[in-house]
Amino acid sequence: MIWWFIALLPPLACALAYGRAPFFAWAGMGFAWLAGFGWAAGWPSALTGTVLVLFAALAAIFLLQPLRRRFVTRPIFRAFRAALPSMSQTERDALEAGTVWWEGELFGGRPAWAKLLSYPWPKLTPEEQSFLDKETSELCRLTDDWKATQRQDLSPEAWRYIKEQGFLGMIIPKEYGGKGFSAYAHSQVVTKLSTRSSAPAVTVMVPNSLGPAELLLHYGTPEQKSHYLPRLAKGLEIPAFALTSPWAGSDAASIPDSGVVCKGEWQGREVLGMRVSFDKRYITLAPVCTVFGLAFRLYDPDGLLGANPDLGITCALVPADHPGVNIGRRHFPLNAVWMNGPIRGRDVFMPLDFIIGGPQMAGQGWRMLMECLAAGRSISLPGSNTGMQKMTARAVGAYARVRYQFKTAIGRFEGVEEALTRIGANTYLSDAARVMTAGAVDLGEKPSVVSAIVKYHVTERARQTVNDGMDVVGGKGICLGPQNMLGRAYQQIPVGITVEGANILTRSLILFGQGAIRCHPYVLDEMHAAQRGELALFDKAFWGHIGYTVSNAVRACVMGITGSHFVTVPENVAPETRRYYQQLTRFSAAFAFIADISMGTMGGALKRKEKLSARLGDILSLMYLASAVLRRYEAEGRQAADAPLMHWAIWDCMFRAQNAFEGVIANFPNQFLATLLRRVVVFPLGRPYVVPSDELGHEVAKLLIEPSPTRDRLTSDVYLPKDLEEPAGSLEAALLATVEAEPVEAKVRRAQKEGRFEPGLLVGGGVDAIWQRAFDAGVISADEFALLKRRGELRDKVIRVDDFPYDFGLREVLAEIEPATGKAMPAAA
Ligand SMILES: Cc1cc2nc3c(=O)[nH]c(=O)nc-3n(C[C@H](O)[C@H](O)[C@H](O)COP(=O)(O)OP(=O)(O)OC[C@H]3O[C@@H](n4cnc5c(N)ncnc54)[C@H](O)[C@@H]3O)c2cc1C
Repeated sequence: MIWWFIALLPPLACALAYGRAPFFAWAGMGFAWLAGFGWAAGWPSALTGTVLVLFAALAAIFLLQPLRRRFVTRPIFRAFRAALPSMSQTERDALEAGTVWWEGELFGGRPAWAKLLSYPWPKLTPEEQSFLDKETSELCRLTDDWKATQRQDLSPEAWRYIKEQGFLGMIIPKEYGGKGFSAYAHSQVVTKLSTRSSAPAVTVMVPNSLGPAELLLHYGTPEQKSHYLPRLAKGLEIPAFALTSPWAGSDAASIPDSGVVCKGEWQGREVLGMRVSFDKRYITLAPVCTVFGLAFRLYDPDGLLGANPDLGITCALVPADHPGVNIGRRHFPLNAVWMNGPIRGRDVFMPLDFIIGGPQMAGQGWRMLMECLAAGRSISLPGSNTGMQKMTARAVGAYARVRYQFKTAIGRFEGVEEALTRIGANTYLSDAARVMTAGAVDLGEKPSVVSAIVKYHVTERARQTVNDGMDVVGGKGICLGPQNMLGRAYQQIPVGITVEGANILTRSLILFGQGAIRCHPYVLDEMHAAQRGELALFDKAFWGHIGYTVSNAVRACVMGITGSHFVTVPENVAPETRRYYQQLTRFSAAFAFIADISMGTMGGALKRKEKLSARLGDILSLMYLASAVLRRYEAEGRQAADAPLMHWAIWDCMFRAQNAFEGVIANFPNQFLATLLRRVVVFPLGRPYVVPSDELGHEVAKLLIEPSPTRDRLTSDVYLPKDLEEPAGSLEAALLATVEAEPVEAKVRRAQKEGRFEPGLLVGGGVDAIWQRAFDAGVISADEFALLKRRGELRDKVIRVDDFPYDFGLREVLAEIEPATGKAMPAAA
């Protein structure tokens, strides 16, 4: 009997922990168990009574808040406060900026899938759809990427069109003359433009994200708003935002650019202002901007604004022609056409009215930037980098069917299939994450962690996709020119990797470092409590945290042992995805526990253990990406034909997440905990995931090399010119002709094999001579021969590469350069 009672204890405790039972349930269970045990062991009733009284007294200390706070929590609170690393205001602003959304559920170990499924999948309004179909397509048509590369600027027509049609004011509300578009619409426009060229995409996306409009909308004074917003919306002003300096790139909060509050002359009057010195670089649109946001540190040594001599980072809006501003020179970012360059100024006097939000916002710049970053980071780079992937999937898939080697379409070779599979699944996943995240912004979220997740992962997936595409198209991708549909994207990929938080830093410091504090249900409260010395808040958060950690450990272990088969999933999910929800729930619980153990054992040192932090960030990110894939699959009506893309993307995420778990555990500083994590909590029965199967990969690759609604959905909104002289145009036509011609081609080969047709020597006839012979021999009809000829002509267009005169035609381009100034004509002017 005693052994029965002892055996009963672990499952009872597990059941309570699994259900995150409150304290009193634990106390009740403990009490009942002790009473039963005493009886089973035959203890004298006095002994059982004493044990129960002692237990009740102990339980009371935990159950009665005043007692618990005084005797248990207070010493822990003291130790916690002493151990908490100090945090600067800029770090605090970064950590506290933005909101927590779906990633909070994944972080918490018990994601409420019904919530994910209830988020509305974004849709365009008729007006937005029309802008995408008409104006955006027209801007694509006006963009000749190669010509723009040669003259290093968009054409004057394209510039005019951008300004006149309101591309620069998509996020500006209608009341200020802007388009008032949703974040999703903005993302769709950037995505589509990027399928054509990075030049219009970057030119359009900067004013709509990091440009000053966003800051003005949130913080501008009424005068600033009514002056600038209508002008920005109409394209009368071209904006830029200048934060980065030669000494402060990733560590942007340390900018040495500074201003001192002082009196000076402005428009003939003596006013209170600032004398600012700045040296900024890499500023997008700087060479053509008419107004730029400027971040600098503002000092007030003479106390002209108040008692604080160091006001902190401040954002001002400065006209580009303001006296003392030195602007107009260009950087050359990997041969990009869009404008980028330095902005400098020494002791430039500007009135306090230049500060965004007016003098009372002096020193609030960093918080303003952090709060506005999330929205822009959720849109611009996820949009542009998904656009590149869509274009790659569309063009490279077609090319792989049209291009033959060894008498076979190269897309049918297993080696090429591998690359095509990654291209397809990465594009599907990136688009899912892009759309879901834009939807979150439209729901009013400012998802700081999620925006970092999509920025990092979509740009990394785009790098993989474009690299894979380059491998598939071989020399055709390497020789630049108007016929190269991929080389320019390849050149531009590192830009997305570097800007808006360079990727290594984002992965190593932000995804988990910021995520752990922002998304954790208790840590931020614990930190606030410690900073403010609030014992009551700490008590609530700390004990909640303990219950949460124990529960996650038990849940992860139980789900690991049972393969998570019994985890409840909303009834309305597609049956083929059910297991993914269950396994993600298991990973979420394991992640929540490992995250807690990492923070608990390494504390502030985890900040320096970037490799561990990066892997933890990978797990969180991969769960987010897999959630987006599941959400997309449901939102698109569970298209059976798209299922291979969904399955491959999720298997890949889960396999990578599993490897990231393994990487954390294998490098965990404490070996005992590492063993506990591996053997008990995370992988009690070994690692559940293997790489996605070759068969599944084959299914995905097949989807890329033939026309189908799935291919259209995967590459929706890719700009497809009709002109057969353009690579994207000829590829589409060649793909259709190739698919149509394949049975005829097979007929000829069959006849040849069966000895019904002998082509003889094909000297000098080229690769298509055999079809002529087959026609002459009556193997194929006139129509079939015509089809093969057409296929051949289109294939020749597709596989051609550009060649140039010895000077690459530069003489022609130089003719456009204004002789007097030696500068290219700025089309934007
Ligand atoms: C084409 C282009 C356009 C840009 N547009 C603008 C703009 O419009 N406005 C603007 O203000 N800025 C702009 N930037 C600046 C951009 O935001 C910075 O380039 C970026 O912040 C990185 O700074 P950095 O290049 O000086 O690299 P560094 O800060 O020197 O970083 C170098 C490497 O070190 C890594 N690293 C740094 N710190 C850490 C760390 N703690 N842990 C791990 N890794 C770390 C980084 O990830 C990176 O890989 C632009 C840059 C480019 C190239």
